[in-house]
Amino acid sequence: MKRTLVSEAVKMVGKKVRLCGWVDSKRDHGKVTFVDLRDRTGKLQVVGVGKLGELRSEDVVEITGLVKERPEKLINPKVETGKIELEVEKYEVLSKSVDLPIPIDGDGYDIGEKQRTKYRYLDLRRERMSKNIRLRSEVGQFLRNWLMERDFIEVETPILTKTTPEGARDFLVPARLQPGKFYALPQSPQQYKQLLMVAGVEKYFQLARCFRDEDARADRAYGEFTQLDIEMSFVSQEDVLELTEKMFTEMVKELFPDKKISKIPWPRLTYGEAMEKYGTDKPDLRKNKKDKNELAFGWVFDFPLFVKQSEEEFFHGSGEAKFAPSHHMFTAPHPDDIPLLSKDPTKVRGSQYDLVLNGFEVGGGSIRIHQAEIQKKIFELIGFSKKQKEEFEHLLEAFTYGVPPHGGIAPGLDRLLMVILGEPNLREVIAFPHLTSGKTSVMDAPTKVAKKQLKELGIKT
Ligand code: ASP
Repeated sequence: MKRTLVSEAVKMVGKKVRLCGWVDSKRDHGKVTFVDLRDRTGKLQVVGVGKLGELRSEDVVEITGLVKERPEKLINPKVETGKIELEVEKYEVLSKSVDLPIPIDGDGYDIGEKQRTKYRYLDLRRERMSKNIRLRSEVGQFLRNWLMERDFIEVETPILTKTTPEGARDFLVPARLQPGKFYALPQSPQQYKQLLMVAGVEKYFQLARCFRDEDARADRAYGEFTQLDIEMSFVSQEDVLELTEKMFTEMVKELFPDKKISKIPWPRLTYGEAMEKYGTDKPDLRKNKKDKNELAFGWVFDFPLFVKQSEEEFFHGSGEAKFAPSHHMFTAPHPDDIPLLSKDPTKVRGSQYDLVLNGFEVGGGSIRIHQAEIQKKIFELIGFSKKQKEEFEHLLEAFTYGVPPHGGIAPGLDRLLMVILGEPNLREVIAFPHLTSGKTSVMDAPTKVAKKQLKELGIKT
């Protein structure tokens, strides 16, 4: 007999079905045993007369029986399957479970993070977490479809690559074929997406994994995160903002119907206005901060192109640099401010924009420099040495073969979801997150490796 899902059973009153899943809970009432059977679609009450007594929570079972309407008194209006139950005919235990090391019936917030990540595969059985990872998948699917309907194509870019400076520390991977040399994991596909514009792709996106060796915070995952990377040719800042705004507004309507966007069109603030009015460049624009269903999207733009170089050498550079890009070094200066590049770089505005949501920065992007001359000027201003400039020769060369003006954006998927769902931490929307210490979920990485492996790589530790 074909397997029936819990969600399908509702429409099968009077029919014999076979269900598979986990024993969510069990109640013994003398001769009658009630079991809540759980599968990926929900829970269903199963009734066994003189049967099921041996079952324990989280055993995996296969149960065949009759779908019946519950007696009036036993109807539970709170659950979708509350009007029906399954009367057991026969069942088989497919796999037994010992007691779980963590409870999975509550929301789990009070359980230590170490335990939750060690037993992530159990933690993900929890209803809240299972919902979150399903929603994440739906969000990805929605965005893919939405963009593909508008003529974008998804292009994968390399993970083993060369450093793409986004201002964070790189993860390095030793290259066995060239001992002493290293790949860097991409902090973002920034240079590749710009090269794709030179390639004539015109409309690119990717659900891209990015790697940054930075300490974790509640709104910053350690190690890796996913962003919806977008790049377009022949566009203005206005085009990028409009596209992004339309995409997320429609996504919220379709996937998060309980949520309400505070203001459409989204408010727009210059960096100066945001700082003056809210004292931050990621203002919380909600009308009522206690309303957990309110989503206040907004744009902040006209940032200064440069910030003063921080004590911590920004690009591990020559040490003489005075300016660091406030977004990244490929961001175009505001067209009106180009003359200021030579006179007073701190006054130059960048053609860049941040997407904010409820007080979080959930994405950023810019119109890019497509003139080699201006790019060289920026390299000078951020104090690049000759050798550092050479690292970007490929991009400058690509720009000599006919480059369309281009720009894009990269909303962070994890952060966006965390804020939309009102979760307190990014880990709540990532299936297998890293701990703050950098340790992976379930598996114990990073680990030491065998001497032989190191020797092959020409590395001594
Ligand atoms: N690459 C940028 C980032 O990761 C986003 C962009 O400029 O499109 O922040």
